[in-house]
Amino acid sequence: MIELRPDNFKKDNYNFITGICAGGMARMIAVDSKDAVSEALRIHNTSPVATAALGRTLTCAMLMSSGLKNDTDSVTLSIRGDGPLGVILAVSDRFGNVRGYCENPHVDLPLNKAGKLDVGTAVGGGVLTVIKDLGLKEPYSGTTELISGEIAEDVAYYFAASEQIPTAVAAGVLVGPADNDIPGYGVIAAGGYMIQLMPGADESLADEITARAASMPSVTTLLSAGASPEDICSDILRGLDFQVETRSYAGFKCNCSRERMEDGMKSLGYQELRNIYLEDKSAQTVCHFCNRTYTFNENDLWKLMASCFKK
Ligand SMILES: [Zn+2]
Repeated sequence: MIELRPDNFKKDNYNFITGICAGGMARMIAVDSKDAVSEALRIHNTSPVATAALGRTLTCAMLMSSGLKNDTDSVTLSIRGDGPLGVILAVSDRFGNVRGYCENPHVDLPLNKAGKLDVGTAVGGGVLTVIKDLGLKEPYSGTTELISGEIAEDVAYYFAASEQIPTAVAAGVLVGPADNDIPGYGVIAAGGYMIQLMPGADESLADEITARAASMPSVTTLLSAGASPEDICSDILRGLDFQVETRSYAGFKCNCSRERMEDGMKSLGYQELRNIYLEDKSAQTVCHFCNRTYTFNENDLWKLMASCFKK
């Protein structure tokens, strides 16, 4: 069965694939996240290493969205390391549309010994937290330690340690010179995949999948060579009867709105709003995720103050 998601459907432009293999004993999700990561770079003006770290986090959040059922469900991936990047946060909706930010997006570090962007050092040691809002009274939340700060490894460890699901995860971002004559750098390729075993799957299948994932070239190598997420799935799972379940398009999408910002302002309470009204006559709030600015003038503040008394 192939589900075409009307909201997310762009003709001939699938970048998000989900499917099953080995008679339903494992599921695989793969995404080409170049659009989402490029948009994050544009919005947050991330340095190369921050682009890689935030990009991998956004990509993993996109992959983790595949288990969500309802339109209002979301999954949040928060990386809290003691490295210079600070907190990295990504939130995905059930379609894999993602938004996110990094506390210190302009951090610049020398390349590591392998000549690659040093994401592990930029993130540092700390914890990874996953919050799934499934519309229940309390969101589900799990936390594990960061084992390398390289993000994909940390997410795989989270699944093994916190959810007891054997999972192979890969996420990569290739940063390089921008296209054409534009000065600076851009996202050359970005993407990832996740393969999870279903309950009751044989241990030998886990070993087989782990070995296959380990022997693959990096995901950015594959994408730069022109492979689609679907190609990546069928290559890794060759001979394991991979069947596509959904094809869709996912990108960077913020869900902020003036209404949400008004709710945030109201939560300050009447006294605080009155102080702002008397001292500044106006207020501005900025969305962390997309940097959009919302301005509240004197009249708006007056209305917000009045609304504090409405039932
Ligand atoms: Zn926003």
